Amino acid sequence: MFIYFTNMRSIQIACILLMVHYGVIGQDALSPRIANYTIDMNLDVENKQVNAKQTVIWINPSDAPVSELQFHLYYNAFKNSESTFMQEGSINGGMSSNSTENCDWGWIQVLSIVDSAGVELVGAGEYIQPEDNNSKDQTVLRIPLDTPVAAGASATFNLEWQSQIPKIMPRTGYNKDYYFMVQWFPKLGVYEPAGMRYAEEDQWNCHQYHASGEYYANFGNYDVSISVPNDFVVGASGQLASKKVAGDLTTWRYTIDDVIDFGWTASPQFQEIHEQWQGVDIKMLCYPDHVHCAPRYFGAVKAAFAYMDEHIGKYPYKTLTIVDPPIHGLFTGGMEYPTFISSVSFCFLPTGIRTPETLVVHEFVHQYFMQMVATHEVEEPWMDEGFTTYFEGKILDGYLGEHQSTINWLGVQVGNADFNRAEFFHSSNPQIAPSSTKSYEYTEGGYGEIAYNKTALWLTTLEGIVGTRTMNEIMKTYFDTWKFKHPCGQDFIDIVNQIVSKNHGTEFGPDMNWFFDQALYGTDLCDYAIASISNDELKSPTGYLKDFENCTTEETTLAAYYSKVVVHRLEGMQLPLEVEITFENGEKKIREWDGRERAITFEFRGDQKIVKAIVDPQGKLTIDKNWINNSYSINPNKTGVQYYFSKIFLAAQRALESLMVLI
Ligand SMILES: [Zn+2]
Repeated sequence: MFIYFTNMRSIQIACILLMVHYGVIGQDALSPRIANYTIDMNLDVENKQVNAKQTVIWINPSDAPVSELQFHLYYNAFKNSESTFMQEGSINGGMSSNSTENCDWGWIQVLSIVDSAGVELVGAGEYIQPEDNNSKDQTVLRIPLDTPVAAGASATFNLEWQSQIPKIMPRTGYNKDYYFMVQWFPKLGVYEPAGMRYAEEDQWNCHQYHASGEYYANFGNYDVSISVPNDFVVGASGQLASKKVAGDLTTWRYTIDDVIDFGWTASPQFQEIHEQWQGVDIKMLCYPDHVHCAPRYFGAVKAAFAYMDEHIGKYPYKTLTIVDPPIHGLFTGGMEYPTFISSVSFCFLPTGIRTPETLVVHEFVHQYFMQMVATHEVEEPWMDEGFTTYFEGKILDGYLGEHQSTINWLGVQVGNADFNRAEFFHSSNPQIAPSSTKSYEYTEGGYGEIAYNKTALWLTTLEGIVGTRTMNEIMKTYFDTWKFKHPCGQDFIDIVNQIVSKNHGTEFGPDMNWFFDQALYGTDLCDYAIASISNDELKSPTGYLKDFENCTTEETTLAAYYSKVVVHRLEGMQLPLEVEITFENGEKKIREWDGRERAITFEFRGDQKIVKAIVDPQGKLTIDKNWINNSYSINPNKTGVQYYFSKIFLAAQRALESLMVLI
């Protein structure tokens, strides 16, 4: 279809014609539609294979010709024990001998890739390993082009490929008659022109598939026809455009525009349950014994729809599919793909343990961060997992109650923010890496606790410092500015600086970089503590008060005290904070501190003793690691007991959630 032109005007005309032909240009295009896929595939349930024909229309977004393509072949992570994914993860060691004997591995092979001039390119292809030089890793395929794609031009490539579906690996695979098919097709990396994100020169950004970290992709339109046995039910990203029966097979055709990926699932046992939210068709797919879970999922996800719509922006797609995997598909739970998310089958938990609600809200928020705001999940996981965890807390607290949104069971109440704190501070080393770490560079652990929980904690701390109104404006402006684009961390920081400066001038300094230097790029912890309270009775002045001969004491009638509160900074992080001092008569005074020195003393003279002092009385600094030492009373109470009691239940919840390695 595509013909190579040699001048720019011809290129532009050709692009327009081509894009109109394929519907790449639509009046309501939300995104640049750089990488567009039409896939026609057959699911071979006998051999657990996919056979597919795939057309890719790709637009060169740079100012210079591009002479090669790079494709992700994610399924080759499951080809053998030597892939980078398997070497990094613990899955291989956990594979049963039965699985090894049955060869439950998977792979994907590109059989043919033909350009628009009819030239077969696959023979020149080679596997590359941009990160680790593991020559056994085949998750990135480089295809040199016979004819370079000109600057700004569009090019069409026709592929044929085949894959062996692995028996349930992390995120994808089959088990029995359940199929969860994600990161399943040859998918282009992102060609980043110089100046995009951190690119200093034009480059392919196409990471190998790592055990941690998911994907990063350009926006585009998808048209996927999935042929399965007639008794299968298929759910997928986007809308069902048609369903045609031919012999033993039914072809389910799903389409969706302006997304960065496409996932699907199939099983003959799926039940479909539908609800609506303001014109969006919400579909739940589950096995028959889980139909009763539907109200929990729908209730929580509708709360998430409402929150994101009000605070961030409208959900622009027509569908959302929630997959509740069967128990033998547990590893595919807790995942997010455009308009297509999976939860985990934990509906056996009492309604007071909110794991199903937490998961579905978390995965839904990913529709915004990182589906619409398409950050790089591998290079900067904090920008999607941390944001998602932050919003998950806000939504669940609003829906279920602030201090009971994670557990409200048998009299124990734990909120989402409490849970984030427990996850982070009780990890084996909360300082093992900064939040800015790439997903696959958390080699010694900490990915979940830092990319997810620590980021959520410092985002709520930032909100505490600048105020909720300013924080809401930051998040909405960030979304409006960067939706359907690919921001990097600095782009978010720039928005924070812009909004804080507009709303608060220089109240927090010339910019907020000092905050990000510590919270995002640093590993210091935060802990402020009331060290002591003292109330010394002021003695009457005495001594040689008037002359050199008469030793006297002045008569005073009022009792008076010289009172002090000493506050310590026990860790490295320096944040502005308030200290609330309560006097005997109930009077409270607030003192502000920039939090920079190691200690500060607040002094008072008067007729009232200090009875209590609290650091950060409003709990703005959620990243403060120890709240027990935040308050000090000369009449101590027992608030710590409830805290430690709660921790027992947090540990139980954590054990359950640790099964869901992928949220
Ligand atoms: Zn997530």
